[in-house]
Amino acid sequence: MMGAVDLPFIQIDGRPIIVDGYKGTVYCDPSAQLRKQYKAIFLEEQALVKGLEALKDLPCETKDRYRLPLHVNTGLMADVVRSLERGAEGVGLYRTEVPFLLRDRFPSEEEQRAIYREQLEAFAPHSVTMRTLDIGGDKALPYFPIEEDNPFLGWRGIRVTLDHPEIFLAQIRAMIKASEGLDNLRILLPMITNMQEVEAARALIQRVHKELLEEGYRVRKPQVGVMIEVPAAVYLAPELSRRVDFLSVGSNDLTQYLLAVDRNNAQVADLYQAFHPAVLRALQYIVYAAHDAGISVSICGELAGDPGAAILLMAMGYDVLSMSATNLPKVKSVIRGITFERAKGLLAEVMRMSNGDLIREHIARELRETGLTRLIRPLASDANE
Ligand code: PEP
Ligand code: MG
Repeated sequence: MMGAVDLPFIQIDGRPIIVDGYKGTVYCDPSAQLRKQYKAIFLEEQALVKGLEALKDLPCETKDRYRLPLHVNTGLMADVVRSLERGAEGVGLYRTEVPFLLRDRFPSEEEQRAIYREQLEAFAPHSVTMRTLDIGGDKALPYFPIEEDNPFLGWRGIRVTLDHPEIFLAQIRAMIKASEGLDNLRILLPMITNMQEVEAARALIQRVHKELLEEGYRVRKPQVGVMIEVPAAVYLAPELSRRVDFLSVGSNDLTQYLLAVDRNNAQVADLYQAFHPAVLRALQYIVYAAHDAGISVSICGELAGDPGAAILLMAMGYDVLSMSATNLPKVKSVIRGITFERAKGLLAEVMRMSNGDLIREHIARELRETGLTRLIRPLASDANE
């Protein structure tokens, strides 16, 4: 649960509370009745998760046999272990800023190589998509402060690393060296807003690869992709798709920039609508652009881990959904519980709708009718409404 800024933290310190992440509600000093209800939800949720664990070795496919690979988002080594236990088929987003955030200085090229090697080895032969350092916005390194009035519209992602090629080059060298003998590395560029950034980054990656070959490393040139997370990149998707090997949609940022809603501002949290029709239309357009150019497109924002959204994204044609390991079993379960035909029907219905709230309700109703309600909210909490 995010954005609980108005909670009287001092007053509730030490008192019993219930946090309902499904509803976004905190209950302080809950009554015995409420405690009983939530205890039941808690036990149901545990039983549900246990039941879903059995899905680990089953393929993620619809009832009519449409296959949809599920990848995970990682940052820590702990994520890797959990992901493998849950049957992930690759890493769709490795957030490299996480190991940078855990230090008090920039990690050296050799330190980075060792960290990246662990991720690549753990998932080999599956692919690992490593995003180059995505700092700025709400992610600040304590040893590299960035002071700005408007950080989300400022110096972030690829903008920082192209201005500091020494950071970018060390990171790319470390990644490519780490992939030696495994060849499962894919490099992803964050916050791309124009073609020049892609060309500049590609030239640096090309240079590093050539230098490493000259130094005697037997390394393959990795696939390079871009994140689509600002509206400009949506409209450039046809051109971008002709210059890169794959696209990956960062729906967290894309939603914030399309709707002009700060993703961390509790005041406007209600306006951050993942199912806003403008967001859905942009998401569909990106798939058409990528597939027209013959490249694959995945999505690695939180949306991919929402069971209802996953159905729509599959129907739109996303080739891979990448999510936190926690959500993976739920998404697999919902995909296995529906036909691709019905998913396409549902998508056609919501694409005709112009109200994000109604779209969300429409999808919830569909899940309820297909008996998949438990994946979006435990049964006992329904009784609590
Ligand atoms: C996104 O923006 O959707 C994304 C995956 O990147 P991050 O959440 O790390 O900004
Ligand atoms: Mg992002």
